[in-house]
Amino acid sequence: MNVKGKVILLMLVVSTVVFVFWEYINSSEGSFLWIYQSKNPEVGDSSSQKGWWFPNWFDNGTHSYQEEEEEDIEKGREKEQTKVNNIKELSLQDWFNPKNRPGVVTVTRWNAPVVWEGTYNRAILEKYYAKRKITVGLTVFAVGRYIEHYLEEFLTSANTYFMVGHKVIFYIMMDDVSRMPSIELDPLRSFKVFEIKSEKRWQDISMMRMKTIGEHILAHIQHEVDFLFCMDVDQIFQDNFGVETLGQSVAQLQAWWYKADPYEFTYERREESAAYIPFGQGDFYYHAAIFGGTPIQVLNLTQECFKGILQDKENDIEAEWHDESHLNKYFFLNKPTKILSPEYCWDYHIGMPTDIKIVKIAWQTKEYNLVRNNV
Ligand code: UDP
Ligand code: MN
Repeated sequence: MNVKGKVILLMLVVSTVVFVFWEYINSSEGSFLWIYQSKNPEVGDSSSQKGWWFPNWFDNGTHSYQEEEEEDIEKGREKEQTKVNNIKELSLQDWFNPKNRPGVVTVTRWNAPVVWEGTYNRAILEKYYAKRKITVGLTVFAVGRYIEHYLEEFLTSANTYFMVGHKVIFYIMMDDVSRMPSIELDPLRSFKVFEIKSEKRWQDISMMRMKTIGEHILAHIQHEVDFLFCMDVDQIFQDNFGVETLGQSVAQLQAWWYKADPYEFTYERREESAAYIPFGQGDFYYHAAIFGGTPIQVLNLTQECFKGILQDKENDIEAEWHDESHLNKYFFLNKPTKILSPEYCWDYHIGMPTDIKIVKIAWQTKEYNLVRNNV
């Protein structure tokens, strides 16, 4: 090698050493080798991640694009939040007038509204929720013969009357998704069908809903909706079930018991059951065919009820009205923030007392011998 060659080689070696040394000094994490680190938070935060050979300056360049993107998303979120904050919070007196329905209970001891026809101002509520651009979820289970008996009518009537004008997602849980009826939904409505395992006893099919709903809220529903309702399939919507029903934690009055004395309620009365409520206690008899709230509240409800159901299984006891007994225990301990009048879930077999102004949902005739696997 001639002198010129040696000089070029030396310059190359020196510049490499200087470059590598410079990088070492500048590396904020002091990581000399650009080794890819996994996203394990114990190893380091994402800013210390490097491509396996890219020098820092290149890597940093990529990061800054990401950071800008994240900033944009954050700014968007803040904007959205300010928009929401600028919408005046509704207070109870803005939309609710309990005096319009004398003769029925319209406010609970703990000051929660009991929503009866005539007590709410739907126009004000609609204006409020339209600005918030809400999405409402509705879970429904159809297992075994409940599919052909009830599912189609439930869904087509819900399409017409449930949260009209708002985005709705129906979560349909079936043991055989191939038997999903073909229904046409309005533009703001969509559905997601999930296959679930059947149980041998109808009591378990009914109770296991608590477990399944909780799992689905955790896995996806919490990110998809602002409010969630959970309903039985053996009922039909007959009129608007609207935004007046929305709340943190919503319970439904059971049609047969709305006027009864708490002493008569068919709560679970055996002390050994987790659903036990002593005589003389309790507020209302709630119907498990409809409950709702924010996803987090419904998650808590379903988890607590399922815990009670499991505890009873371990103790070889089954509450008299299954998941409904546990639901009543839950709402006894955790008071609902809103209660729906029996107009929201009426059984025509009772007749039509003057208290019932508009039936929003009607029970289907019970045909247990036709639809249940063990009667
Ligand atoms: N269910 C079902 N298949 C069954 C039993 C129950 O799909 O074999 C679901 C269905 O959604 C039903 C709910 O569980 O509406 C509660 O059962 P059911 O309506 O028979 O109880 P009830 O209203 O008579 O207390
Ligand atoms: Mn039912």
